[in-house]
Amino acid sequence: MYFTIGKLLKIKSSIILKVYISKQFGLFIDIDGVVTRGRDVLPPAKKAFETMIDSSKLLNQPLVFLTNSGTSSTEEKSNYLTKLLDIHVNPSQIIMSYRPLDLFKKFSTKNTLISGQGPIENIATIMGIKNLITIEQLSKSYPLLDMMANARREIIVKDNMKSILPRIEAIVLFGEPVNWETSLQLIIDVLLTDGYIDKKFEMFPYPHIPIISCNSDFIWMAQWKNPRLGHGAFLSCLESLYKKMTGKELIYSAILGKPNVLNYLYAEKILYENAKKINQHHHSNPSNIQTIYAIGDNIESDIVGGNIYNKLLDKKIEKSRTQHSDFSYQHLLHDKNYVDLVDWTQLSDLDTSHVTQCKTILVQTGVFHSNLDEEREKAYKLSYNHRDTKADPSMKRADYVVKDLMEALKLIRKIEA
Ligand SMILES: [Mg+2]
Repeated sequence: MYFTIGKLLKIKSSIILKVYISKQFGLFIDIDGVVTRGRDVLPPAKKAFETMIDSSKLLNQPLVFLTNSGTSSTEEKSNYLTKLLDIHVNPSQIIMSYRPLDLFKKFSTKNTLISGQGPIENIATIMGIKNLITIEQLSKSYPLLDMMANARREIIVKDNMKSILPRIEAIVLFGEPVNWETSLQLIIDVLLTDGYIDKKFEMFPYPHIPIISCNSDFIWMAQWKNPRLGHGAFLSCLESLYKKMTGKELIYSAILGKPNVLNYLYAEKILYENAKKINQHHHSNPSNIQTIYAIGDNIESDIVGGNIYNKLLDKKIEKSRTQHSDFSYQHLLHDKNYVDLVDWTQLSDLDTSHVTQCKTILVQTGVFHSNLDEEREKAYKLSYNHRDTKADPSMKRADYVVKDLMEALKLIRKIEA
Protein backbone atom coordinates (compact mmCIF):
# COMPACT_ATOMS: atom_id res chain seq x y z
CA MET A 1 0.00 0.00 0.00
CA TYR A 2 1.36 3.40 -1.01
CA PHE A 3 0.67 6.69 0.77
CA THR A 4 0.89 10.03 -0.97
CA ILE A 5 2.91 12.72 0.86
CA GLY A 6 -0.34 14.60 1.53
CA LYS A 7 -1.87 11.52 3.21
CA LEU A 8 1.25 10.96 5.26
CA LEU A 9 1.21 14.58 6.42
CA LYS A 10 -2.44 14.23 7.37
CA ILE A 11 -1.77 11.06 9.40
CA LYS A 12 1.25 12.69 11.05
CA SER A 13 -0.68 15.80 12.04
CA SER A 14 -3.59 13.77 13.43
CA ILE A 15 -1.15 11.72 15.55
CA ILE A 16 0.45 14.92 16.88
CA LEU A 17 -3.00 16.35 17.55
CA LYS A 18 -4.09 13.25 19.50
CA VAL A 19 -1.03 13.50 21.75
CA TYR A 20 -2.03 16.99 22.85
CA ILE A 21 -5.76 16.55 22.81
CA SER A 22 -5.80 13.38 24.94
CA LYS A 23 -4.94 15.52 27.96
CA GLN A 24 -6.20 18.98 27.17
CA PHE A 25 -4.95 22.26 28.40
CA GLY A 26 -5.71 25.79 27.34
CA LEU A 27 -3.47 28.76 26.68
CA PHE A 28 -3.97 32.47 27.35
CA ILE A 29 -1.27 34.21 25.32
CA ASP A 30 -0.43 37.90 25.67
CA ILE A 31 0.57 39.65 22.42
CA ASP A 32 2.87 42.68 23.04
CA GLY A 33 6.22 41.43 24.35
CA VAL A 34 5.33 37.76 23.85
CA VAL A 35 4.36 37.43 20.19
CA THR A 36 5.43 40.86 18.95
CA ARG A 37 7.68 43.81 19.76
CA GLY A 38 6.24 46.90 18.08
CA ARG A 39 5.22 45.79 14.59
CA ASP A 40 7.77 42.95 14.45
CA VAL A 41 7.08 39.32 15.24
CA LEU A 42 9.41 37.69 17.77
CA PRO A 43 11.06 34.71 15.97
CA PRO A 44 10.55 32.19 18.85
CA ALA A 45 6.84 33.05 18.85
CA LYS A 46 6.57 32.39 15.11
CA LYS A 47 8.26 29.03 15.67
CA ALA A 48 5.91 28.21 18.54
CA PHE A 49 2.80 28.81 16.43
CA GLU A 50 4.19 26.60 13.64
CA THR A 51 3.92 23.70 16.10
CA MET A 52 0.27 24.49 16.91
CA ILE A 53 -1.32 24.40 13.45
CA ASP A 54 -2.68 21.68 11.19
CA SER A 55 -2.02 21.31 7.48
CA SER A 56 -4.62 24.03 6.70
CA LYS A 57 -2.81 26.48 9.02
CA LEU A 58 -5.67 26.32 11.50
CA LEU A 59 -4.72 26.37 15.17
CA ASN A 60 -5.21 22.93 16.74
CA GLN A 61 -4.42 23.97 20.28
CA PRO A 62 -7.22 25.59 22.34
CA LEU A 63 -5.98 29.12 22.97
CA VAL A 64 -7.03 32.72 23.19
CA PHE A 65 -4.94 35.83 22.80
CA LEU A 66 -5.41 37.89 25.94
CA THR A 67 -4.16 41.42 25.32
CA ASN A 68 -4.46 44.75 27.09
CA SER A 69 -4.47 46.54 23.78
CA GLY A 70 -7.74 48.42 23.39
CA THR A 71 -7.56 50.75 20.43
CA SER A 72 -8.09 48.35 17.53
CA SER A 73 -10.97 46.04 16.68
CA THR A 74 -10.72 42.26 17.07
CA GLU A 75 -10.96 41.94 13.26
CA GLU A 76 -8.00 44.28 12.77
CA LYS A 77 -5.97 42.40 15.39
CA SER A 78 -6.80 38.96 13.98
CA ASN A 79 -5.94 40.08 10.41
CA TYR A 80 -2.68 41.47 11.70
CA LEU A 81 -1.76 38.25 13.54
CA THR A 82 -2.89 36.05 10.65
CA LYS A 83 -0.54 37.93 8.33
CA LEU A 84 2.32 38.17 10.79
CA LEU A 85 2.29 34.53 11.92
CA ASP A 86 1.07 32.99 8.65
CA ILE A 87 -1.66 31.07 10.44
CA HIS A 88 -5.41 31.53 10.58
CA VAL A 89 -6.45 33.49 13.68
CA ASN A 90 -10.18 33.83 14.24
CA PRO A 91 -11.37 37.23 15.59
CA SER A 92 -13.32 35.40 18.29
CA GLN A 93 -10.03 34.13 19.74
CA ILE A 94 -8.86 37.62 20.61
CA ILE A 95 -9.80 39.14 23.94
CA MET A 96 -9.02 42.82 23.71
CA SER A 97 -8.94 44.69 27.02
CA TYR A 98 -12.43 46.17 26.41
CA ARG A 99 -14.07 42.88 25.45
CA PRO A 100 -16.01 42.35 28.73
CA LEU A 101 -17.72 45.73 28.09
CA ASP A 102 -20.54 43.89 26.36
CA LEU A 103 -21.40 42.35 29.75
CA PHE A 104 -22.19 45.86 31.03
CA LYS A 105 -25.73 46.09 29.73
CA LYS A 106 -26.67 48.83 32.20
CA PHE A 107 -24.10 51.11 30.56
CA SER A 108 -25.33 50.64 27.04
CA THR A 109 -28.16 53.20 27.08
CA LYS A 110 -26.26 55.99 28.86
CA ASN A 111 -24.91 59.03 26.99
CA THR A 112 -21.25 58.08 27.12
CA LEU A 113 -18.04 60.05 26.60
CA ILE A 114 -15.31 57.83 25.15
CA SER A 115 -11.55 58.45 25.24
CA GLY A 116 -8.71 56.75 23.38
CA GLN A 117 -7.46 56.56 19.80
CA GLY A 118 -8.05 54.45 16.70
CA PRO A 119 -11.53 53.21 15.76
CA ILE A 120 -12.93 53.52 19.29
CA GLU A 121 -16.26 54.86 18.06
CA ASN A 122 -16.75 51.72 16.03
CA ILE A 123 -15.54 49.51 18.89
CA ALA A 124 -17.85 51.20 21.41
CA THR A 125 -20.80 50.67 19.07
CA ILE A 126 -19.94 46.97 18.64
CA MET A 127 -19.70 46.70 22.43
CA GLY A 128 -23.30 47.92 22.63
CA ILE A 129 -22.86 51.58 23.65
CA LYS A 130 -25.67 53.30 21.79
CA ASN A 131 -25.25 57.00 22.57
CA LEU A 132 -21.67 58.13 22.48
CA ILE A 133 -19.51 61.17 22.00
CA THR A 134 -15.74 61.26 21.56
CA ILE A 135 -13.36 63.71 23.24
CA GLU A 136 -12.71 65.23 19.79
CA GLN A 137 -16.44 65.76 19.13
CA LEU A 138 -16.90 67.29 22.58
CA SER A 139 -13.94 69.60 22.01
CA LYS A 140 -15.39 70.66 18.66
CA SER A 141 -18.81 71.36 20.21
CA TYR A 142 -17.25 73.41 23.02
CA PRO A 143 -14.10 75.01 21.57
CA LEU A 144 -13.47 77.10 24.71
CA LEU A 145 -12.82 74.07 26.91
CA ASP A 146 -9.37 73.16 25.64
CA MET A 147 -7.05 76.15 26.14
CA MET A 148 -3.74 74.37 26.73
CA ALA A 149 -2.21 75.14 23.34
CA ASN A 150 -1.49 78.85 22.79
CA ALA A 151 -2.89 78.70 19.25
CA ARG A 152 -6.29 77.64 20.58
CA ARG A 153 -6.47 80.65 22.88
CA GLU A 154 -7.07 82.81 19.82
CA ILE A 155 -10.44 81.16 19.24
CA ILE A 156 -13.29 83.62 19.58
CA VAL A 157 -16.78 82.35 20.15
CA LYS A 158 -19.31 85.09 19.58
CA ASP A 159 -22.51 83.95 21.26
CA ASN A 160 -22.83 82.77 24.81
CA MET A 161 -22.66 79.02 24.56
CA LYS A 162 -25.92 77.25 25.18
CA SER A 163 -26.21 73.58 25.93
CA ILE A 164 -26.20 71.78 22.61
CA LEU A 165 -25.50 68.35 23.95
CA PRO A 166 -27.50 66.12 26.26
CA ARG A 167 -26.05 65.40 29.69
CA ILE A 168 -23.08 63.02 29.63
CA GLU A 169 -23.96 60.17 31.98
CA ALA A 170 -20.92 57.91 31.83
CA ILE A 171 -17.28 57.78 30.68
CA VAL A 172 -15.42 54.89 29.08
CA LEU A 173 -11.64 55.16 28.73
CA PHE A 174 -10.53 52.71 26.03
CA GLY A 175 -6.79 53.41 26.02
CA GLU A 176 -4.18 56.12 25.94
CA PRO A 177 -5.34 59.17 23.97
CA VAL A 178 -3.02 61.15 21.69
CA ASN A 179 -3.37 64.63 23.19
CA TRP A 180 -3.39 63.92 26.90
CA GLU A 181 -3.91 67.54 27.92
CA THR A 182 -7.16 67.77 25.93
CA SER A 183 -8.56 64.52 27.30
CA LEU A 184 -7.56 65.30 30.88
CA GLN A 185 -9.14 68.77 30.74
CA LEU A 186 -12.39 67.59 29.17
CA ILE A 187 -12.83 64.53 31.39
CA ILE A 188 -12.27 66.71 34.48
CA ASP A 189 -14.85 69.19 33.10
CA VAL A 190 -17.42 66.43 32.64
CA LEU A 191 -16.80 64.98 36.12
CA LEU A 192 -16.96 68.33 37.90
CA THR A 193 -20.13 69.47 36.16
CA ASP A 194 -21.94 66.17 36.67
CA GLY A 195 -22.06 65.72 32.91
CA TYR A 196 -23.69 69.14 32.24
CA ILE A 197 -20.65 70.52 30.45
CA ASP A 198 -21.92 74.12 30.11
CA LYS A 199 -22.56 74.50 33.86
CA LYS A 200 -20.29 76.34 36.31
CA PHE A 201 -18.21 74.31 38.77
CA GLU A 202 -20.13 74.59 42.02
CA MET A 203 -20.58 71.76 44.48
CA PHE A 204 -18.62 68.88 43.03
CA PRO A 205 -20.99 65.94 42.70
CA TYR A 206 -19.80 62.87 44.57
CA PRO A 207 -19.94 60.08 43.79
CA HIS A 208 -19.30 61.37 40.29
CA ILE A 209 -20.78 59.91 37.11
CA PRO A 210 -19.61 56.31 36.45
CA ILE A 211 -16.27 55.67 34.74
CA ILE A 212 -14.98 52.42 33.26
CA SER A 213 -11.34 52.14 32.24
CA CYS A 214 -10.34 49.38 29.82
CA ASN A 215 -6.62 49.21 30.58
CA SER A 216 -4.42 50.03 33.57
CA ASP A 217 -0.96 49.01 32.26
CA PHE A 218 1.45 51.63 33.53
CA ILE A 219 4.14 50.58 31.05
CA TRP A 220 4.35 48.38 27.97
CA MET A 221 7.03 47.23 25.58
CA ALA A 222 7.31 48.53 22.02
CA GLN A 223 10.44 48.37 19.84
CA TRP A 224 12.64 50.61 22.00
CA LYS A 225 14.88 48.97 24.62
CA ASN A 226 13.10 50.66 27.52
CA PRO A 227 9.35 50.41 28.28
CA ARG A 228 6.88 53.10 27.16
CA LEU A 229 4.25 54.83 29.32
CA GLY A 230 0.83 53.27 28.93
CA HIS A 231 -2.79 53.97 29.81
CA GLY A 232 -2.10 53.34 33.52
CA ALA A 233 0.15 56.41 33.44
CA PHE A 234 -2.72 58.43 31.94
CA LEU A 235 -5.00 57.18 34.74
CA SER A 236 -2.43 58.29 37.34
CA CYS A 237 -2.59 61.82 35.91
CA LEU A 238 -6.38 61.83 35.85
CA GLU A 239 -6.66 60.50 39.43
CA SER A 240 -4.13 63.03 40.68
CA LEU A 241 -5.85 66.00 38.96
CA TYR A 242 -9.28 64.91 40.21
CA LYS A 243 -7.97 64.66 43.78
CA LYS A 244 -6.26 68.04 43.55
CA MET A 245 -9.47 69.69 42.24
CA THR A 246 -11.96 68.02 44.62
CA GLY A 247 -9.97 66.54 47.52
CA LYS A 248 -11.63 63.22 46.77
CA GLU A 249 -10.62 59.94 45.19
CA LEU A 250 -11.69 59.14 41.65
CA ILE A 251 -13.86 56.02 41.67
CA TYR A 252 -13.94 53.51 38.81
CA SER A 253 -17.06 51.41 38.29
CA ALA A 254 -14.67 48.89 36.74
CA ILE A 255 -11.13 48.71 35.46
CA LEU A 256 -11.14 46.15 32.69
CA GLY A 257 -8.13 44.52 31.06
CA LYS A 258 -5.61 42.32 32.83
CA PRO A 259 -5.27 41.89 35.82
CA ASN A 260 -9.08 42.19 36.17
CA VAL A 261 -10.46 38.69 36.68
CA LEU A 262 -13.46 39.54 34.47
CA ASN A 263 -11.18 39.43 31.41
CA TYR A 264 -9.99 35.97 32.47
CA LEU A 265 -13.53 34.68 32.97
CA TYR A 266 -14.47 36.04 29.57
CA ALA A 267 -11.36 34.41 28.09
CA GLU A 268 -12.27 31.07 29.71
CA LYS A 269 -15.71 31.22 28.08
CA ILE A 270 -14.12 31.89 24.67
CA LEU A 271 -11.48 29.19 25.25
CA TYR A 272 -14.22 26.62 25.86
CA GLU A 273 -15.99 27.64 22.62
CA ASN A 274 -12.68 27.49 20.76
CA ALA A 275 -11.89 24.00 22.16
CA LYS A 276 -15.38 22.85 21.16
CA LYS A 277 -14.73 23.90 17.55
CA ILE A 278 -11.35 22.14 17.45
CA ASN A 279 -12.73 18.99 19.04
CA GLN A 280 -15.77 18.65 16.80
CA HIS A 281 -13.44 16.95 14.33
CA HIS A 282 -11.93 14.66 16.92
CA HIS A 283 -14.95 13.59 19.00
CA SER A 284 -13.26 14.62 22.22
CA ASN A 285 -14.70 16.66 25.03
CA PRO A 286 -13.73 20.35 25.43
CA SER A 287 -14.64 20.22 29.09
CA ASN A 288 -11.49 18.12 29.56
CA ILE A 289 -9.60 21.36 29.96
CA GLN A 290 -8.58 21.57 33.58
CA THR A 291 -5.43 23.65 33.39
CA ILE A 292 -4.90 26.98 31.68
CA TYR A 293 -1.43 28.41 31.20
CA ALA A 294 -1.32 32.22 31.15
CA ILE A 295 1.80 33.39 29.29
CA GLY A 296 2.89 37.02 29.46
CA ASP A 297 5.78 39.48 29.78
CA ASN A 298 4.25 41.97 32.23
CA ILE A 299 4.39 41.06 35.92
CA GLU A 300 1.68 43.56 36.96
CA SER A 301 -0.88 42.53 34.37
CA ASP A 302 -0.11 39.00 33.10
CA ILE A 303 1.28 37.40 36.23
CA VAL A 304 -0.78 39.21 38.87
CA GLY A 305 -3.89 38.69 36.68
CA GLY A 306 -3.25 34.96 36.16
CA ASN A 307 -2.64 34.51 39.89
CA ILE A 308 -5.80 36.43 40.86
CA TYR A 309 -7.78 34.22 38.46
CA ASN A 310 -6.14 31.10 39.92
CA LYS A 311 -7.12 32.22 43.43
CA LEU A 312 -10.72 32.62 42.24
CA LEU A 313 -10.61 29.09 40.81
CA ASP A 314 -9.40 27.86 44.23
CA LYS A 315 -12.40 29.57 45.83
CA LYS A 316 -14.71 28.01 43.25
CA ILE A 317 -13.41 24.52 44.05
CA GLU A 318 -13.63 25.18 47.78
CA LYS A 319 -17.24 26.41 47.45
CA SER A 320 -18.34 23.50 45.33
CA ARG A 321 -16.75 21.11 47.83
CA THR A 322 -18.35 22.62 50.90
CA GLN A 323 -21.71 23.76 49.50
CA HIS A 324 -24.23 21.73 47.63
CA SER A 325 -26.15 24.74 46.40
CA ASP A 326 -25.43 26.23 42.99
CA PHE A 327 -22.16 28.02 42.66
CA SER A 328 -21.83 31.34 40.79
CA TYR A 329 -19.05 33.84 40.16
CA GLN A 330 -21.51 36.65 40.84
CA HIS A 331 -21.60 35.58 44.49
CA LEU A 332 -17.86 35.01 44.71
CA LEU A 333 -17.14 38.51 43.39
CA HIS A 334 -19.84 40.20 45.48
CA ASP A 335 -17.42 42.87 46.83
CA LYS A 336 -16.47 44.27 43.41
CA ASN A 337 -17.83 47.63 42.21
CA TYR A 338 -18.98 46.10 38.95
CA VAL A 339 -20.88 43.11 40.28
CA ASP A 340 -24.34 44.70 39.87
CA LEU A 341 -23.54 46.20 36.47
CA VAL A 342 -22.59 42.89 34.84
CA ASP A 343 -25.01 40.65 32.98
CA TRP A 344 -23.87 37.40 34.60
CA THR A 345 -26.14 35.22 32.48
CA GLN A 346 -23.60 35.62 29.66
CA LEU A 347 -21.00 33.88 31.85
CA SER A 348 -23.31 31.22 33.27
CA ASP A 349 -21.59 28.43 31.25
CA LEU A 350 -18.59 28.90 33.50
CA ASP A 351 -20.49 27.72 36.56
CA THR A 352 -20.08 24.15 35.35
CA SER A 353 -16.62 24.53 33.78
CA HIS A 354 -13.98 21.93 34.66
CA VAL A 355 -11.09 24.38 34.75
CA THR A 356 -9.41 24.04 38.13
CA GLN A 357 -6.14 25.94 37.86
CA CYS A 358 -4.28 28.68 36.02
CA LYS A 359 -0.48 28.47 35.91
CA THR A 360 1.45 31.64 35.12
CA ILE A 361 4.49 31.75 32.85
CA LEU A 362 6.66 34.88 32.61
CA VAL A 363 8.66 35.25 29.39
CA GLN A 364 11.76 37.42 29.03
CA THR A 365 11.03 38.97 25.64
CA GLY A 366 9.09 42.07 26.68
CA VAL A 367 8.67 44.40 29.67
CA PHE A 368 10.55 41.82 31.70
CA HIS A 369 13.69 40.91 29.76
CA SER A 370 16.38 39.65 32.06
CA ASN A 371 17.42 36.12 32.89
CA LEU A 372 19.15 37.20 36.09
CA ASP A 373 17.49 36.21 39.36
CA GLU A 374 18.49 39.49 41.05
CA GLU A 375 16.89 41.52 38.22
CA ARG A 376 13.70 39.55 38.69
CA GLU A 377 13.77 40.21 42.45
CA LYS A 378 14.18 43.93 41.67
CA ALA A 379 11.19 43.81 39.30
CA TYR A 380 9.05 42.15 41.99
CA LYS A 381 9.79 45.09 44.31
CA LEU A 382 8.71 47.77 41.83
CA SER A 383 5.09 48.77 42.01
CA TYR A 384 3.50 49.53 38.68
CA ASN A 385 0.18 48.10 39.83
CA HIS A 386 -2.82 50.34 39.56
CA ARG A 387 -3.95 52.00 42.81
CA ASP A 388 -7.04 49.74 42.95
CA THR A 389 -5.33 46.42 42.25
CA LYS A 390 -5.46 44.58 45.53
CA ALA A 391 -2.79 41.94 45.28
CA ASP A 392 -0.21 40.90 47.85
CA PRO A 393 3.45 40.75 46.69
CA SER A 394 3.34 36.96 46.32
CA MET A 395 0.89 37.42 43.43
CA LYS A 396 3.70 38.93 41.37
CA ARG A 397 5.60 35.66 41.29
CA ALA A 398 5.08 33.52 38.22
CA ASP A 399 4.87 29.74 38.50
CA TYR A 400 7.53 29.50 35.79
CA VAL A 401 10.00 31.91 34.17
CA VAL A 402 11.28 31.02 30.70
CA LYS A 403 13.11 32.70 27.84
CA ASP A 404 10.36 33.00 25.24
CA LEU A 405 7.07 31.59 23.93
CA MET A 406 8.69 28.54 22.31
CA GLU A 407 10.37 27.64 25.61
CA ALA A 408 7.05 28.13 27.39
CA LEU A 409 5.36 25.71 25.02
CA LYS A 410 8.11 23.10 25.42
CA LEU A 411 7.74 23.37 29.20
CA ILE A 412 3.95 23.00 29.08
CA ARG A 413 4.17 19.94 26.85
CA LYS A 414 6.65 18.37 29.24
CA ILE A 415 4.35 19.02 32.20
CA GLU A 416 1.27 17.76 30.37
CA ALA A 417 2.88 14.69 28.73
MG1 LIG B 1 2.63 42.30 27.11
